[in-house]
Amino acid sequence: MLENGAQRREYELLIGGEWRAAAGGARQAVRSPFDGATVGEVAVATRADADAALAAAERGAAVWRRTPAHERAAILNRAADLADARAADLAATISAENGKPLGEALGEARRSGAILRLSAHEGAQLYGQGLPLDANPGTGQDKVGFTLRQPVGIVVAITPFNYPALLVLHKVAPALAAGNAVVLKPASATPLTALALADLLVEAGVPDGVLSVLTGPGGALGDALVADPRVRKVSFTGSTGVGERIARSAGVKKLSLELGASSPTLILPGADIERAAAAVAAGGYVNAGQVCISVQRVIVHRDVEADFLDALLPRVRAIRAGDPFAEGTTIGPLISEREAERVADGIAQAVADGATLLTGGARDRGFVEPAVVAGVDTRHALAQEELFGPAVAVTTVDDFDAAIAAANGTPYGLAAGVFGGTLTEGVRAIREIDAGSVHLGWTPLWRADLMPYGGLKASGHGKEGVRSAVEEMTEAKTVVMHG
Ligand code: NAD
Repeated sequence: MLENGAQRREYELLIGGEWRAAAGGARQAVRSPFDGATVGEVAVATRADADAALAAAERGAAVWRRTPAHERAAILNRAADLADARAADLAATISAENGKPLGEALGEARRSGAILRLSAHEGAQLYGQGLPLDANPGTGQDKVGFTLRQPVGIVVAITPFNYPALLVLHKVAPALAAGNAVVLKPASATPLTALALADLLVEAGVPDGVLSVLTGPGGALGDALVADPRVRKVSFTGSTGVGERIARSAGVKKLSLELGASSPTLILPGADIERAAAAVAAGGYVNAGQVCISVQRVIVHRDVEADFLDALLPRVRAIRAGDPFAEGTTIGPLISEREAERVADGIAQAVADGATLLTGGARDRGFVEPAVVAGVDTRHALAQEELFGPAVAVTTVDDFDAAIAAANGTPYGLAAGVFGGTLTEGVRAIREIDAGSVHLGWTPLWRADLMPYGGLKASGHGKEGVRSAVEEMTEAKTVVMHG
């Protein structure tokens, strides 16, 4: 038991239904980003372990694809009940290894059961399509054609640190529901939540080999898993750089890449300023800004800029940094001191290059004080590159066209938000902003687990969201019966 009440966790690798030591015997401590305390320990998998997990997954996939959908659903629903019952414990693990405030972690943990249930349902909806073959010139009514949806086989799931439960389950649960075997490689900083989820899936009855979890370095393990011909699908969420490397080494496989972003929010004349300010003060700083759909950029029309900033600044200054487990903490540390340094340097560089720091930006160990930086040129790195930290870059524009151009003016295209504007501008924003999701009346930081979710441009391709993930983790086979 740790001082804050969380359990100290120790895990082996999950391979072929067994918890076993890594082939090389190495182990690694998992540390709290808040105070560096050891909150758990995991095995460090090697390439030999990756090979063993894939061999087990081949056996698991053969069993699981023959398991009726209702049985798969029953197991996932049992896992959902376990996740609900253990939500407080999962939340403590998330906060301990990721550093987010316990209240935020609880919100994440409580979605686990819901994602598992939604997946159980969608995995039982693998409908095919009847084909009107007699519409083909020369074909009579002697043939019957239809499509059949089948699991792809082995799915490799690679996940980032920022939502250790949510982003694991958005891959693992739909993959299992659709009848696939999964080899999961969670982020090195946050493996404990993934292992706790795997534990409850095994307890719920997922058969041996159907789910394996390899903890350890992304580079060596990732390369071994991604390039292996036994794998049919790689589902990756993480940075654009690693996504590009995966795309190069995957070869002929199905790929989902949920990558980085620099998401904009437009504030236009007519916006409900209080509502917009409250939404940005949440959407730019939740999880210390370490969210792919975080509000990194505010593009504000000059006519409403002063009112908007007046409403925003006190709200940002009211964000309380502290111990993730302490009552009243609304922002925790970044995932590491090195990340905090990178973020603080990025803010300082923008200011050195002519932007104005309106609040925040100072670093204290792993913490960066929530920042608002005004007068940011869209071409500056603070707008162009993903910051992944608690700061919002404000760019002022003189008209709607300039706002759309600024919104689209980065390599990314994950999500965007719009406040205010006319109906016509709203419709234009929906059509013209190059992003995987556009929110009118809110910031990009909003997600329902059932909705299609994924980016355009350098933000990746493919969609998550349970129904979309099930679709992408199955293949349609065309069947023709020749009478
Ligand atoms: P990261 O890219 O550093 O790591 C992600 C995962 O990839 C980790 O498990 C890591 O160990 C593994 N990895 C590292 N090198 C690898 C390799 N060569 N081959 C295979 N796997 C490898 O990302 P991170 O720092 O953990 O997470 C932050 C990033 O994730 C941000 O860029 C953020 O925008 C992105 N993200 C995107 C979404 C989305 O839905 N688009 C959601 C959350 C996070």
